[in-house]
Amino acid sequence: MKGFFNRILRINVTDQNYHVDSTDDAVLEKYLGGKGLATTLLLENNPPGVDPLSPENNLILAIGPVSGTAIWGSCRYGIYTKSPQTGFYSESYSGGTVADYMARAGYDAIIIQGASKAPVWLEIFDEGVRFHNAESLWGMETYQTEDQVRELVSQKNPHHPKSGVMVIGPAGENKVTLSVVENDYWRSAGRTGAGAVMGSKRIKAIAFWGSRKKELADEKQVSTFAREIAKRGKDDPGAKAYKSKGTPQLVKLMNRVGGFPTRYWQKGVYEHWEKISAEALQERCKVEPHACLKCFMACGRLSTVKEGRHAGLRIEGPEYETIYAIGGLCEIDSIEEIMYLNDLCDRLGMDTISAGNLVSFTIEASRQGRIDMKIDYGDVDSIAALMEDIAYRRGTGELLSRGIKAAAKEWGMEEQAIHVKGLEPAGYDPRVLKGMGLAYGSSDRGACHLRTTFYKPELSGLVDPDQIEGKAAVLAEWEDRLTISDLLILCRFYRDLYQWEELATIIEGTTGLRLDKDGLCAIAANVVNATRRFNIREGLSAEDDRLPRRFHKEPLESGKIITEAEMETLLKDYYQSRGWSEAGIPPNTE
Ligand code: SF4
Repeated sequence: MKGFFNRILRINVTDQNYHVDSTDDAVLEKYLGGKGLATTLLLENNPPGVDPLSPENNLILAIGPVSGTAIWGSCRYGIYTKSPQTGFYSESYSGGTVADYMARAGYDAIIIQGASKAPVWLEIFDEGVRFHNAESLWGMETYQTEDQVRELVSQKNPHHPKSGVMVIGPAGENKVTLSVVENDYWRSAGRTGAGAVMGSKRIKAIAFWGSRKKELADEKQVSTFAREIAKRGKDDPGAKAYKSKGTPQLVKLMNRVGGFPTRYWQKGVYEHWEKISAEALQERCKVEPHACLKCFMACGRLSTVKEGRHAGLRIEGPEYETIYAIGGLCEIDSIEEIMYLNDLCDRLGMDTISAGNLVSFTIEASRQGRIDMKIDYGDVDSIAALMEDIAYRRGTGELLSRGIKAAAKEWGMEEQAIHVKGLEPAGYDPRVLKGMGLAYGSSDRGACHLRTTFYKPELSGLVDPDQIEGKAAVLAEWEDRLTISDLLILCRFYRDLYQWEELATIIEGTTGLRLDKDGLCAIAANVVNATRRFNIREGLSAEDDRLPRRFHKEPLESGKIITEAEMETLLKDYYQSRGWSEAGIPPNTE
């Protein structure tokens, strides 16, 4: 099919061999590429009930029909596997530059099977795969690994000196369940522990290069469309806001509505929020907008600390989610200190959302005398030390490295732990944004904010945050549209510019498939049902879609709460909108 390379690369790292299969057009028509193609491969190739950290768990990388084209927001890749953090479906996406190099290598999906005895790094290019010894890289932090691998690739291939490189840090090597896969230093496929799966295969890094180009159904249509979107983007208020303030703009907004998770989910307003806002970042640091390839929004902040003990520290960030998890949950009232902990997590290769949640949960355990360790809110140095201990599995960090469910059980704090399916939520309290409650509960990968980004319609006034009746159907429609985005693999922040019509145009221009909204919803439903079937196969029941009880029992300062009955209604309506049974089972599930 046009828009694809029609090639799937299968790599076995145990035997260090590989072969190339062709894609099946019938599969592409039903599921498109990206998440759709990867999910079918995962269902087909993963043995049911497999241990996520065993060689039998497959690690699948995918790009979509837009990858390598001129479409804005197209420079992203996806990673799919069974999550060591949740035991369920795992997907994660990252921007930067790597997806473009993956496209040049010319595979729609790459399935990595087995596990190497000794550390390796892989070179994946248009003519095949090279396996390299990675003993000298093992133990290195992420930035240094990326630099070294990029340098090695340019030495080995003088005709193709440039490459895209993804790496894991010490956390991934140590199979810490919240490990990420990182690229371009600060961009992460950041949730559900894909880094630990890569580490379990003893793959330290993967470099991509090549010169393949795919054939599009209508090159001219694609470039005209891209030009038109660039024109529209110039006046789009959302695009302008991302460029001028990035995601930290949400700190002010979420505190204003009282849903900024603070002090391990006890409060919805942080009294020092102004010190960790977009404005504080702008004032206290040198900040430049920074973009992934093929992006005019440039939501990234390339920030350099101007003064104090971290003067000179430079990162792309911090993102809103990091500010909430480290600043709000752990009550750290300094944007520079948040950057310091952000940088630490990036070097170690750990997800900042889960890290902030685990650390603040430990602070609660310490304050309640459930553990001997002394650590408190705002105590930056103890927090940094605990983050390192998690990455290296030392002391209390060993338990935390196994995730929130393990720690809560060990400390007798299961009623206090905040997570869905073992994944901690992002920075939107569902007692205030009730649709986010449903988003966290229904998402295939646990308490995820990105599958529907339902905070957007709830914060912008499109949908009343307190509404319950009729909300699930609206959420399912958002989920359908953003699922299509994940099949193409587009950046979430283009969601306002890419409505149904624009998505249909992109698909027609790249693949030649002509689909209206109903046709697109049918494809999205195929994929949503497939990930649900995967999860059911791994033991999921409707019970796993419920929210932590604290959201039903503990009101925020404003008195806001989401009741159990409200969540029941939301889930029941959602199952109905999806055509699932009352137990949340899609049709034709065996
Ligand atoms: S909006 Fe941000 S995340 Fe999305 S492509 Fe642009 S820079 Fe990357």
